[in-house]
Amino acid sequence: MSKLKGKVALITGGSRGIGAAIAKRLAADGASVAITYAKEASAASAVVKAIELSGGKAVAIQADAADVEAVKGAVEKTVATFGRLDVLVNNAGTAIPKTFEETTLDEMDRVIDINVRGTLVATQAALKHMKPGGRIIMIGSSVGERVLVPGLVAYSVTKGAVKMFSQGLSREIGSRGITVNNVQPGPIDTDLNPAAGDWAVPQKAATALDRYGRVDEVAALVAFVAGPESSYITGANLTVDGGMNA
Ligand code: NDP
Repeated sequence: MSKLKGKVALITGGSRGIGAAIAKRLAADGASVAITYAKEASAASAVVKAIELSGGKAVAIQADAADVEAVKGAVEKTVATFGRLDVLVNNAGTAIPKTFEETTLDEMDRVIDINVRGTLVATQAALKHMKPGGRIIMIGSSVGERVLVPGLVAYSVTKGAVKMFSQGLSREIGSRGITVNNVQPGPIDTDLNPAAGDWAVPQKAATALDRYGRVDEVAALVAFVAGPESSYITGANLTVDGGMNA
């Protein structure tokens, strides 16, 4: 596979879960990839090693999405390492599942800082380096459009914001030949949202396919959006949710 040969991708939050699967998939498609992580250096270096063992190029950069300077630094380091930047995947994100009335101001700030502010800052920094053919890809959520279970109010606010950021930005930078799209996963089995346990039961039941999704099922859509065949898709919200929002 060489759809992304010669391209460079930065995936925020690429050490585990959906981000790690995206990093491996884009590398398999020929891209050199940089991943960021906040805490787990060992998990990040395991992703880099796996990519290198498959013949790809990768680098891990510690950059908390809530730290503006670290995020800007990660973009600069990606360009310094691989010489260019073609694809940004804004994947770093978190959820603090609890009812809205129980959610503290600190928790609201944290989820907004990582999911929204981190995405805005990374995108602004990346756009300085992007050329025609560039791809900005958000990892939003199906709850950015429809919220079917309680406990995700603050989180869904941030994913709704990511959706509108994507749509608005697509209008501003379309003339540069850069596309902006929002990939919206439904329930995907990761550390953040394990498929086993009480919390998973209503989510699984709300899908048309009656199952959780796998990280590679999200990565496949991201790979398509990152690749040359998606050239006329921009400002789109592309849902990969097993029919949760059907
Ligand atoms: P995980 O918690 O499994 O993985 C999160 C990844 O992001 C890790 O690599 C983690 O690294 C990194 N990360 C976490 N916080 C930060 C931070 N502050 N700065 C930089 N990196 C960070 O999450 P998922 O893979 O499930 O989620 C990835 C994205 O997909 C998120 O945006 C999430 O909202 C979205 N999503 C997930 C769904 C799901 O059901 N799983 C559904 C819909 C959307 P480290 O361990 O070092 O912190």
